[in-house]
Amino acid sequence: MSEPVPSTEERIARLQRIIEISRLLNSTLSLRPLLAEIVQAACDLTDAETGSILLVDRRTGELRFEATTHPDGHSIYQMAVPMESLAGWVFQRNESVIVADVRQDPRFYAQVDRAVGWETRSLIAVPLTVRGKTIGVLEVINRRNGGSFNEADLETLRVLADQAAIAIENAVFFEQSDLVAEIVHEMRTPLGVIAAYADLIAHKDLPPEQRTEFALLIQQEALRMSRMAGEFLELARLESGRVFLAREAVDLAGVVDSVLASLRPQAEEKGILLESEVSPAVPTIIGDPARIRQALLNLVSNAIKYCRPGDRVTVTVHSDGREITVGVVDTGLGIPRDLQARLFEKFYRIPTEEGRAEGSGLGLAICRRIVEAHGGRIWVESEEGEGSAFYFTLPVAGKGMPSPLT
Ligand code: ADP
Repeated sequence: MSEPVPSTEERIARLQRIIEISRLLNSTLSLRPLLAEIVQAACDLTDAETGSILLVDRRTGELRFEATTHPDGHSIYQMAVPMESLAGWVFQRNESVIVADVRQDPRFYAQVDRAVGWETRSLIAVPLTVRGKTIGVLEVINRRNGGSFNEADLETLRVLADQAAIAIENAVFFEQSDLVAEIVHEMRTPLGVIAAYADLIAHKDLPPEQRTEFALLIQQEALRMSRMAGEFLELARLESGRVFLAREAVDLAGVVDSVLASLRPQAEEKGILLESEVSPAVPTIIGDPARIRQALLNLVSNAIKYCRPGDRVTVTVHSDGREITVGVVDTGLGIPRDLQARLFEKFYRIPTEEGRAEGSGLGLAICRRIVEAHGGRIWVESEEGEGSAFYFTLPVAGKGMPSPLT
């Protein structure tokens, strides 16, 4: 009862569907809905009764059911199958199989049929592989109307599996990334504020001055979110380990001048004195000038942010020949001793009324990543009420710098 082999037109139509599907798959970063889309697409493309995805459990190495189109599929959710099964065979060898009658195949693992109460007759199973690493298996079971699967179905499924595996890897990466969970959590607060004020603004009898006030609050929170998104992306790039640092000669005195020039208007507006003390013979370092500038910019703008009118911010640069130490010393609010250790954690902000300036809590985490990627250290010295001093070191050229960033 073999099905007729599809015509060229049909094959092209299938490939077009796969392209559409893969576009859809790449726009989903949430694992469960993504897996559901993939199995559904696999069944549609091969005219199968049902399908499933098994993924390897990274902790235990077991192969487990993660998604199926079968209405009673929940009973096998996360069920592990032995490596001696058909799926296990496909997974271990990274090879596809097409089986016309599973009853004739000793590798067939009948336990699953029993658990769900269905009857597998024929199947195709293909490995899900990304960059040479097999992460799971995609299966379709029983061709509709009792027919059997053919080579064209197998080929279609293989192409789909290649696209699907990449999308799955991305989704798994995002699900495991604390950073994403944290940013979503952090974004909820400004979003909540925006939603609440937008609601109030919609009231017809709201006095115009209040309307303006609420509109400004919405604008402020939206700007905060947008800054957060930018900083978050930078931190995510730095944490991904896929970023390479530039390796150029860096003129630190020039970097200091440029940072002070761009922050001077802000400091003057707040009545804060901004100055620098750069030793005359600072050796050259090899590094990423834009990122070093970013780190210094974050530290100086923090100092301005957490200083009061009349305070002073001094940027110091000196070297002992082995490394350069850059300091950002302020006479501002200072930081309680017990909280200092947490400052460089992402999203950490000091929970005091006075220090309630605009910010995302990502600035110092970014500084730390940048400095450490250059082989340096960063730390804070501070007395509450007397001021803070943030220091970082950069090894002098020839002392080696790790790259890429990790
Ligand atoms: P933020 O975006 O909140 O400024 P950061 O990571 O840059 O995030 O800083 C974390 C926290 O450290 C700030 O919220 C602030 O409480 C504190 N902080 C940073 N720099 C200073 C400083 N120069 N003086 C006092 N507190 C500071």
